[in-house]
Amino acid sequence: MRMTSKLRLITFALILALVSCAQSENPNLVRTIEEFDNVVATLQPGDKVILANGIWIDVEFKLKAEGLPDKPIELTAEEPGKVIISGQSNLSFSGSHIIVSGLVFKNGYTPTSEVISFRTSKAELANNSRVTNSVIDNFSNPERHDSDTWVAIYGKNNQFDHNSLMGKGNRGVTLAVKMTTEGSQENDHVIEYNYFGPRGTLGSNGGETLRIGTSHYSREYSNTIVRNNYFDRTSGELEIISSKSCGNEIRDNVFFESQGTLTMRHGHHTLVENNYFLGNRKPNTGGIRIINGYQTVRNNYLYGLTGHRFRAALVIMNGVPDGPINRYDPVVDSNMNNNIVVDSDYIQLCAGSDAERSAAPTGSSMHNNIFMSKTNLNPFTVYDDISGISFEGNVLNEEASSPIENGFSKVPYSVAKNENGLLVPAQSLIDEIKFGEVKLPVAKDDTGAGFYPKVDDIPTFQSGDTLSVEAGTNTILKALNSSKSGDTLILENGGEYLLTKYAVINHPITIKTESGDKAVVRSEKLSFFILENGGALELENLWIDGAESPDQAGNNVISTSRYSMNRNYSLAVRHCKVTNLDVNHSFDFLKVYKNTFADSIEILDTEMTNITGSILTLDKETEDLGIYNVENVSIKGSKFKDIQGSVANIYRGGTDESTFGPIVVIEGNEFTNTGLGSRNKTEASLKFHGVQKLHISDSSWNKSAPLELYLTNGEPITVIKDIVMENTGEIRANNNEYEVDNISYK
Ligand code: CA
Repeated sequence: MRMTSKLRLITFALILALVSCAQSENPNLVRTIEEFDNVVATLQPGDKVILANGIWIDVEFKLKAEGLPDKPIELTAEEPGKVIISGQSNLSFSGSHIIVSGLVFKNGYTPTSEVISFRTSKAELANNSRVTNSVIDNFSNPERHDSDTWVAIYGKNNQFDHNSLMGKGNRGVTLAVKMTTEGSQENDHVIEYNYFGPRGTLGSNGGETLRIGTSHYSREYSNTIVRNNYFDRTSGELEIISSKSCGNEIRDNVFFESQGTLTMRHGHHTLVENNYFLGNRKPNTGGIRIINGYQTVRNNYLYGLTGHRFRAALVIMNGVPDGPINRYDPVVDSNMNNNIVVDSDYIQLCAGSDAERSAAPTGSSMHNNIFMSKTNLNPFTVYDDISGISFEGNVLNEEASSPIENGFSKVPYSVAKNENGLLVPAQSLIDEIKFGEVKLPVAKDDTGAGFYPKVDDIPTFQSGDTLSVEAGTNTILKALNSSKSGDTLILENGGEYLLTKYAVINHPITIKTESGDKAVVRSEKLSFFILENGGALELENLWIDGAESPDQAGNNVISTSRYSMNRNYSLAVRHCKVTNLDVNHSFDFLKVYKNTFADSIEILDTEMTNITGSILTLDKETEDLGIYNVENVSIKGSKFKDIQGSVANIYRGGTDESTFGPIVVIEGNEFTNTGLGSRNKTEASLKFHGVQKLHISDSSWNKSAPLELYLTNGEPITVIKDIVMENTGEIRANNNEYEVDNISYK
């Protein structure tokens, strides 16, 4: 059938009408920041602003609007999860009854000090507003110590729920409740069902995941409720949650393998109830720390926590009498009752007692707690007068002992998995303290933005594929270029490998000879391997030889990035041989730069000979701000001979108490002619300054520079035993606060 021209016109008009009708259904779909600004200027209660799907680069969204309780203003995505905000971007909003949802911030960082801000200026705050179903994923400033806050909640009656905040790599609080003006105090905010994804050790203060208030306003009430959140490996620093205000309620949260504690750092009258801490015996995992007055800690479940001192399972601190607002208020009328503590190592009472923190707790109680553990049979440490804490009805397994005379009864150790998969004491004991069902209050899957995947396994060495690499020039580089995170490069038995370019490591990688003769690797460049941000390196059964390195001072085998790294790296050297790092002076094994941080560095069963520089020098943070370069160092079963520099030189300065590294283990090594080179400024074979846990054992020194210790900050634990020093000076130390057992000097 042929259409008449009139019919055609009518059809055309109809189509036009349909199209404009479709547009009017979505009148506020915006595609650029200019369109966004234009729409925002016209918003009326009940209106929506919809960001078009796609990647938004370098955009600073500022939304000022007034909604009504039944007609909120909404800022949302065309489709949740399909609006990606990247580059140098952020969002601030103020007014009332505003709901933000469906946004994803990734591949960038904020140019200001906040990514999502509940205010548009000091005076313009958001009230009765909500951010939900949104994501901030590794939106980290590349400068590790350039501080920012990912989410800053100002105003009153705001809600932050079902969001995923993961992978913060730079300094600064992940989520902060700000109380800087009266308009942000007594705020009644609710923070619930959020997924706080993994955060690496920062190696400095400023790695809190959630902070409520600051010391300045800490005697004001915040009344923030934090419930049903999942904290997944949030390990930035000592404080996972730092409550720094009064009247908060922290309940029904899960802390999974997080290295840190829920700390009532300032403020009074906070309730901590029914939280679950699953340490799973991972290092430095902690529980709950009480400071200040009128705090209530009850019905929490704590499993497998290994942290000590301020990072113990349960901590009650000493305070400063009439101290300034930023120090520690004494613990007064606080209760730590009805908690279940299983397979955890430390309970610390009057922790931090010293000349300044001299006020012991008063009017406080520890009642009806169940302590079941064989992992440390003396879990309680009492640092000061505990007469101000009453002990009643606590239960302890009979193998363990307590220095506290009354208020504990002994029962057989009985721990079994319950129907919810949690390790619990006998039901009769649970019933006695009326704990109720032992069950996680929230599942990981019920938290966070529903559309966005959570973090499962963090990539590790040898978790990927294996790639065979032929002997030859730059064959390792080719293999690295085609490798993925966790892959293993297998070199030929006894094969010879030459690098004429830098081998850049961008993800976890293992390079090894499977068995038999070690493959030999040489390089013509200043460094063999460069660890860039995100990189980690494991060398196994290799021979690293410096004979082809350029004739210049300052070569090295492994270097970190020259630039700030906001991801932590790790390095393992196992069953290797390292020779001839001597083509010129100061040829180091590892060279690190400032603003880099290693989770762990391990040298195992390795021989290093004839080296004009140092092996591990981790001393680049010299400002004494409590910042340092490595968390764990382990040197075991290794031989060092003819090393002109030091084998290890680790520096951690300052008096800040927010971190717990470095932690160093030196065991079963031989040091021969080490540390005596004229360029070795440390004049030591090993030098440790401010190391917090140091264990040296079963090692011998021969014709070497001495061991030097500078014990500082908190209560460093230093143990030296079963060592022989022949033609080597005596240990140099700033004090004798270390444990020595069986040293022989010859
Ligand atoms: Ca802190």
